[in-house]
Amino acid sequence: MIVANTRDQLHDLLNKPRNHQTVGFVPTMGALHDGHVSLIKAARKQNERVIASIFVNPKQFNDPADLHRYPRTPEADIELLTDCGCDILFHPVESEIYDGSEYQVPDLGFMETIMEGVHRPGHFKGMAEVVGRLCELIRPTRAYFGEKDFQQLAIIRFLASTKGYGTQIIGCPTIRESDGLAMSSRNILLTKEERSQAPVIYEALLQARKLFMDGNESEILKKYVQKVEQSGCFKVEYLYIGFADTLKEAELFDPKRSYRIFTAVRTPGIRLIDNIPVGH
Ligand code: AMP
Repeated sequence: MIVANTRDQLHDLLNKPRNHQTVGFVPTMGALHDGHVSLIKAARKQNERVIASIFVNPKQFNDPADLHRYPRTPEADIELLTDCGCDILFHPVESEIYDGSEYQVPDLGFMETIMEGVHRPGHFKGMAEVVGRLCELIRPTRAYFGEKDFQQLAIIRFLASTKGYGTQIIGCPTIRESDGLAMSSRNILLTKEERSQAPVIYEALLQARKLFMDGNESEILKKYVQKVEQSGCFKVEYLYIGFADTLKEAELFDPKRSYRIFTAVRTPGIRLIDNIPVGH
């Protein structure tokens, strides 16, 4: 694997033997785990060249403390990417991404007015800007994103089509620990006690799904909060059931439609998000 730290190095690598090769791109913020590996492997299967990026993007952190303590493990990341067949890692410093050039993020509309958009003001604009800038540099054939961040995936699809990048956006399933906790770079910031209680988030989501599908909508939120908060480690920020395609809020289950149940929970130190599918 070749590591490029500057736009010029990246440009040289991309333009030398490119000759119509397909390029699969996986943007990340590093501290890589098996969720990221699944995206690289998906890209490896479908493209001649695979490029990953590691950039902890300050513009998408609405909380400076979260940015400060975000895990950074570059040596281990490079080893992991090499092992799973990545060809190029783009690992820039901030001035290589924000080089003074203009980038216009389109109005993200409704998608920015729900869930993470409400609880993390500015987060999606910052995320869309960095992904847009990276796509303009790399011009990938396909770009890979995890369903773990389902709202982000929906926003990226909108961004790619609005900006006309011609990049196919591929969503990949959430990879979980064996006890159900969705893998996340932030999990290593959990205390021992919080980590041992964390599977309750997935269990409570499964319980919410059953209640929704059984027509017991009125009990979903109360039972969800009860189950998550009785652990003593987590506070529920939101639980939201939306249609999988539009993310518009759904109230009643219709077996012909697909939904997603979303949540964010907090410990005193960190915030975790997760979501699960409902229906086909
Ligand atoms: P991040 O480094 O957290 O910005 O994530 C980079 C990419 O990996 C995003 O597209 C995430 O949705 C995806 N990702 C993060 N965690 C998981 C997971 N547990 N399973 C699948 N994809 C994931």
